[in-house]
Amino acid sequence: MKPLGIFGGTFDPIHVGHLRTAFELLQALRLGGVRFVPTGTPPHRERPVADAQLRLRMVRAAVADQPGFAVDDREVRREGVSYSVDTLSELRREEPDRPLCLLLGMDAFLGLPHWHRWRELLDLAHVIVAHRPGWNVPLTGPLGELMAERVTDTIGVLHERLAGCIHVHAVTQLEISSTELRQSISAGLDPRYLTPDAVRDVLRDSGCYAGHDAERVRRGTSAR
Ligand code: ATP
Ligand code: MG
Repeated sequence: MKPLGIFGGTFDPIHVGHLRTAFELLQALRLGGVRFVPTGTPPHRERPVADAQLRLRMVRAAVADQPGFAVDDREVRREGVSYSVDTLSELRREEPDRPLCLLLGMDAFLGLPHWHRWRELLDLAHVIVAHRPGWNVPLTGPLGELMAERVTDTIGVLHERLAGCIHVHAVTQLEISSTELRQSISAGLDPRYLTPDAVRDVLRDSGCYAGHDAERVRRGTSAR
């Protein structure tokens, strides 16, 4: 069975940096599919600006036309804080014989030691690290040690084993972030070509991020 890719994120909003990365990994690693998993209440960061249902709607709109891409809403449905280790444990129970590949940008990978029960993640899945601009592969510390033990350059190994390998993969560098998108939408600029038209339609219909200083609202510092 071809490996299943799992791509988590706040997706506040989803953009072509996410989509192109997932698509290149889908093809290059010969994955059977990629599941986009929007976070509910993320543990490692500030509360998202768009609520979970709207982020979910945007992710659904973004992936609807790509075979092999699907949305998994379990973290949004889950009560309280969502942890990747819980999501992967559930997926492992559902797919006992299928390799699982957790897809991460390099910035997310570098934060891995702060994740809940992070060492267990590799018992449940492979970790695929997509290069992002400005971030280097860790050579020292707990991640450097883990890389030395676990890294593989061979895609076949990701198909033969169910979990446990780290694979670093170069993808087209698209220097786009949700943070910058929110700021530019809030400043009245059009996000066209940075996110699919279907997402842009949802953004326009919902008025999300527009008409107020979204970053200040999120920090609770806006009086208006
Ligand atoms: P924010 O600016 O709010 O942090 P983001 O654009 O970084 O948003 P996230 O939802 O934080 O998006 O990221 C989800 C996943 O997508 C992470 O693994 C992250 O590394 C990866 N990612 C985000 N942006 C890109 C990009 N431009 N290219 C490749 N991977 C990306
Ligand atoms: Mg980010």
